[in-house]
Amino acid sequence: MSEKVERIKCLIIGSGPAGYTAAIYAARADLHPVVYTGLEPGGQLTTTTEIDNYPGYPNGVDGTQMMEEFKKQAERFDADIRFGMATDVKFSDKPGGIHKVTIDNKTEIEAETVIISTGATAKYLGLESEQRLIGGGVSACATCDGFFYKGQDVVVIGGGDTAAEESTYLAKLCKTVTVLVRRGEMRASKAMQHRVFNTKNLKVMFHTELDEVLGDQTVEGVRVVNNQTGKKQKLNVTGVFIAIGHKPNTELFKGKLKMDDTGYLITKGKTTKTDIPGVFAAGDVQDKEYRQAVTAAGTGCMAALDAERYLATLEV
Ligand code: FAD
Ligand code: NAP
Repeated sequence: MSEKVERIKCLIIGSGPAGYTAAIYAARADLHPVVYTGLEPGGQLTTTTEIDNYPGYPNGVDGTQMMEEFKKQAERFDADIRFGMATDVKFSDKPGGIHKVTIDNKTEIEAETVIISTGATAKYLGLESEQRLIGGGVSACATCDGFFYKGQDVVVIGGGDTAAEESTYLAKLCKTVTVLVRRGEMRASKAMQHRVFNTKNLKVMFHTELDEVLGDQTVEGVRVVNNQTGKKQKLNVTGVFIAIGHKPNTELFKGKLKMDDTGYLITKGKTTKTDIPGVFAAGDVQDKEYRQAVTAAGTGCMAALDAERYLATLEV
């Protein structure tokens, strides 16, 4: 199956803020990292336009441009960045063991350390109008995009803790927030629900689903449907926040690394160590709380430092 086996010190899987930051640090530590980008070089931020909350860009920056700059910075220190998907992994559970990763079902890489930064994917409803208007008023990240809807009317879809958190966050910025919940109750914790129901400019519509996002280039409203009566109505909003959960990109690691019941990789304490020596996880793939570019980059740095220290302890 393998065309060729290459032995390296540090393999980084994924090229979002976590992967590229790990590459910058690992390259500067002479670990000669190889990064496999996956199908989305640059990661989630390449699907959005303006990034306003990443430090160092006082005027904001286009997501794709910012990730291109991350890449160039990693390449300046000779990180080897390649297009390809990790399709299989065989981890050694012995300290100092060699980990084997297959790329695109054909090339096998042997690595002393592996940094997993495969990110997470926001779940969307799948409506044509929703998909068409992503970036034009439809968003899956209130912390990222809420600011653009200051003083405006928005809807949030979902009834879990994420929807509760995002809607109360948006209520501080927006004129009104309407939360659409498909059942007769919210799934969110009681404490979070308490916050939702005690926020003045926030209204919850139960048994209500999004039928269509209205607008051509930008959101001009939504049509919603009551799933008990079938009654449809238009809401005049300019922003639509989908908050029905995220899915970490961890299929490949099922049964091979410890993960929680929602599939996020589990790291030890304040480190990026997984349960396998020499395998580290950084970014959204191990973080369901913060999910920001800056926190992903921060843990990418930590993973490279953890990998460097792990290799140093083997040399003693
Ligand atoms: P990701 O960016 O998700 O990158 C994952 C990488 O892994 C990709 O390169 C992918 O190709 C690769 N990959 C996956 N599977 C494999 C595999 N099997 N083999 C090889 N590679 C693989 N955050 C902010 O701080 N500010 C914002 O303004 C902001 N706006 C956002 C707007 C949108 C529309 C979205 C969706 C998110 C936004 N975020 C924002 C969140 C931010 O994008 C994420 O927190 C961040 O990108 C996570 O970085 P990451 O490196 O962990 O993973
Ligand atoms: P979640 O708990 O799975 O909730 C998803 C919500 O979206 C549910 O209300 C679900 O409805 C709804 N939903 C799913 N698909 C839908 C669809 N197609 N149409 C309409 N609604 C749909 O996800 P989450 O809220 O992202 O939370 C994930 C985990 O992170 C949870 O364990 C949560 O506790 C945790 N979290 C915690 C905090 C916090 O403590 N501060 C913050 C965020 C997240 P149903 O209920 O009908 O299935």
